[in-house]
Amino acid sequence: MSVSNGRQFLSIPGPTNVPDIVLQAMMRPAVDIYTGPLVAMTDALLADLKRIFRTKGHTYIYAANGHGGWEAALTNVLSRGDHVLALESGRFALGWAEMAKVMGAEVEVLSGEWHRAVDPAAVEARLKADKTHSIKALLVVQIDTASGVVNDIPAIRRAMDAAKHPALLMVDCVASLGCMPFEMDAWGVDVAMTGSQKGLMTPPGLAFVAANARADAAHKTANMKTHYWDWTFRQGAEHYQKYCGTPPEHLLFAQRAALDLLLGEGLEAAWKRHDILARATRAAVSRWSEGQVISFNVAEPAQRAASITNVRVNGINSHLITDYTRDKCGVTLGLGIGGYDGKAFRIAHMGHTNAPMVLGTLGAIEMALQALKIPHGSGGVSAAIETMSAAVPA
Ligand SMILES: *Cc1c(COP(=O)(O)O)cnc(C)c1O
Repeated sequence: MSVSNGRQFLSIPGPTNVPDIVLQAMMRPAVDIYTGPLVAMTDALLADLKRIFRTKGHTYIYAANGHGGWEAALTNVLSRGDHVLALESGRFALGWAEMAKVMGAEVEVLSGEWHRAVDPAAVEARLKADKTHSIKALLVVQIDTASGVVNDIPAIRRAMDAAKHPALLMVDCVASLGCMPFEMDAWGVDVAMTGSQKGLMTPPGLAFVAANARADAAHKTANMKTHYWDWTFRQGAEHYQKYCGTPPEHLLFAQRAALDLLLGEGLEAAWKRHDILARATRAAVSRWSEGQVISFNVAEPAQRAASITNVRVNGINSHLITDYTRDKCGVTLGLGIGGYDGKAFRIAHMGHTNAPMVLGTLGAIEMALQALKIPHGSGGVSAAIETMSAAVPA
């Protein structure tokens, strides 16, 4: 028996739901890449990306996924042999660190646990010990999508300032931009990067990087630069230089429609929406956890992310739950990744997501817990509704 026929719910933390209007924006013939509206659209996209990163710095658009964005950020400011400090809080910070290592940086990981945020005091202590300022850049992820941790970027910047350390602060905002506050300039972030397919509600395939004046200065001497990613080339006057080749034009039309949606809602309103949906999700998980099998991966409530919740399943294979929701209900949850396979599932509340989508997802999970006779506190969905109705008055 199954009740899965109907609109399928994709509740994974990327790629996220693509709004119909964004899909429709791609249903059109190809356009000229040398003249006409595409050229103006590039300028408008680059300007709107500044509004979303909250920076007066330069922005860049790459035909690439998030990994490409990582590489773009690294190649433009680092030189081979540079000492880089990666702040561990889950799988993604380590992934970026591994990439830097392969590219020729000397990478040090400030080790951390995957159920708590980076400790700014530990960052300050490590930087203070670096008397010769050999560390050239810090790599940190704002929301680690594997662990569900949110890192406090302003606190990490304060730690760098307290240590009077000149390293560049480089932030991965792939799972956070558009979902929670990010203030590149106000927070003193030097390089930020993201992808199109999470909070920005567009199919995968575009990466965005923003760089401030300190990053530009590092760029001048960086010797990891390669032609495709090179900021200097991409600032050239010819339109094709902005993409180092043919613009990924259908994805650009899609991204245009998605940014119109996001800026139409208002960034602050989108952050608030994510906060409410996240709190509703946590209310349900808290209830379920009374049965001792379900628990939060992130111990400290303030360190739980606005865009994704990592739910631990203790003593039972978590695939039982995710298989049930997918096969019986048509709801695909995120699996545990990076060591969490079989031990956790992830609920995305990221991007183009509203109350019924989150309540439907939570309802399917609660249905799975009941059908599988997994011990859990009842009333998780009711708790989510109470949280949302209190947050959204009539
Ligand atoms: C998804 C994600 C990435 C990687 O993006 P890809 O498009 O899969 O390369 C990097 N960092 C974070 C935090 C992510 O969530």
